[in-house]
Amino acid sequence: MAGPLQQLHSHIRNTIRDAVIRHHKRSGVVLFSDTTLRDGEQMPGATLEPHEKLQIAKALEAAGVHSLDAGFPASSESDVAAIRSMIGVIRKPVLTALCRTVNSDIDAAQRALDGNPVHKKGVSLFCGTSPLHRTEKLQKNKTEIIRTITDAIQYASNNFRIIAFSPEDASRTERDFLCECYREAIDAGATTVGFPDTVGVLTPEKTADFIKTIQDNVPNLNKALLAVHFHNDLGLAVANTLAAIQQGANVVQSTVNGIGERAGNASMEEIVMALSLHGDQYKRSFRIDTTKLAPLCHLVAELTGVAISRMKPIGGQNIFATEAGIHQDGLLKNPDTYLPFRPEVVGSSGIQFVLGRHSGRKAVAHRLSAIGLSSDEDRVNAIVALIKSQPKGTVVDDAMLKHLHEGLSS
Ligand code: MN
Repeated sequence: MAGPLQQLHSHIRNTIRDAVIRHHKRSGVVLFSDTTLRDGEQMPGATLEPHEKLQIAKALEAAGVHSLDAGFPASSESDVAAIRSMIGVIRKPVLTALCRTVNSDIDAAQRALDGNPVHKKGVSLFCGTSPLHRTEKLQKNKTEIIRTITDAIQYASNNFRIIAFSPEDASRTERDFLCECYREAIDAGATTVGFPDTVGVLTPEKTADFIKTIQDNVPNLNKALLAVHFHNDLGLAVANTLAAIQQGANVVQSTVNGIGERAGNASMEEIVMALSLHGDQYKRSFRIDTTKLAPLCHLVAELTGVAISRMKPIGGQNIFATEAGIHQDGLLKNPDTYLPFRPEVVGSSGIQFVLGRHSGRKAVAHRLSAIGLSSDEDRVNAIVALIKSQPKGTVVDDAMLKHLHEGLSS
């Protein structure tokens, strides 16, 4: 039995916790929870060393993420080492550790996060709730699942004030049971409840409908943040995340470059730019510095060894490059003619005018004068003709341009 002093202490603690959650909800801010270092690193071939994780964590902190899903301590010593290296170094984001609803996982998280202030560390508990997970994976009935969840949350609350609970495979869980899991989890002390679309099967419309069902059937949701986590198996992870934001989700979990299991997770940089360009629609603020995005994408690609597709929004090498004559002409007159946002907005270097078969006179003349070569009309016309006669796919760099120019002069 807790004495009156302990009861008062826990009452004060809960009052503060509820006030912080109310504040976050009322502010309308979309909080970014990054899972590049956990779900992202989990993808085959993306393994990171602890010092590389620390380097990415520093870049994520500088970009302004609210929390970092820093690893799964019970699963690997390397995850523990990475988290230990962040203690006292990564100060602004909350560091969370992934745990099954198993006491020994929570103990491992406690050891890994030891030394971080109590308001900057948390556990992220997960337990499968869908019929498939209950019968095939866990062999537990609904009552046993609820019991497992609430026991783990109560156990975690001995050492943690920040406790997230996610029903794994939520999007394939019966809605009434899913809402029951949330109600019980929040009553047991969860401060965040997650909605993971673990195998990436939802559409934006079904996402919004799911979130609304949760809001309508979980009366104690005012005591917890709602976090969402989408996978990209249908190419809809970002669209689903935006639908959930529109419907009132508080926290979005995403990864840089969208790396993650199978088709990956929702790309943080894409969500941020959609929110940034459509403030009128979402009416939600966020604390990510967009000028940090492209360098962050490149850092993650370099350290994970997972290359960015050249067409990938924000970080891809074609995003601010063009070869087409009409686009080059327009961009030279005003960059906004053929861009949704300028390179500097996402911290990218300038527009690249690639010279090739599709390029026109304006771009050739521009490049010639940029490298200090004469660009009178006859020469430009002759060089454009030479470029158009090159084998398909040829990219004319400055050295080749110089060579073509010299050929004319002699
Ligand atoms: Mn996931």
